[in-house]
Formats: sequence, C-alpha cells, structure tokens
Amino acid sequence: MSEPRWTVEVDRQRCIGNQMCVNVAGDYFALDEGKSRPVAAWIAPSDGVLEALELCPNSAITIRDESGAPVEPS
Ligand code: SF4
Repeated sequence: MSEPRWTVEVDRQRCIGNQMCVNVAGDYFALDEGKSRPVAAWIAPSDGVLEALELCPNSAITIRDESGAPVEPS
C-alpha cells in the first residue's frame, strides 16, 4: 500500500495574495507574482495545509484526495 496523497490547487483568480497560506504552511505554498501557488503537485496529508484552507479569506485553496474528492478540515 502506498501512502495517501493529496493534491493542492490555488485559484489565482480568487487569491488576494495576503500570504496567510504561506505563513501557516510555507512548505506547501509560495508567493509568485503576488499570488500563491502550490509548491508541489502531490503532498502527503498535512494539518498545515488544512489550516491554510481554513484561513484563506477568499476560498482560493482546494485540496483533493487521490480520488479527486475535496478534502475538508474535520
Ligand atoms: S491564503 Fe488564500 S488568498 Fe491568501 S495568499 Fe493564500 S491562497 Fe491567496
């Protein structure tokens, strides 16, 4: 069995570049020309990424599991 993996997407149309995601999950998000982008296409499940999703003021972050289903903070 392989480890579960998630994908992380940032909708750059929605991102307002306030860096909340970079501040709480800097291993997973980087600012690029004033907007956030995911650092890696696939990641191991991470509480930090879930926290970024919760904190994003404009719902710009989407996390999906390997089936493509959205992952939400519990
Ligand atoms: S928290 Fe949301 S709006 Fe802020 S930089 Fe990250 S993706 Fe963009």
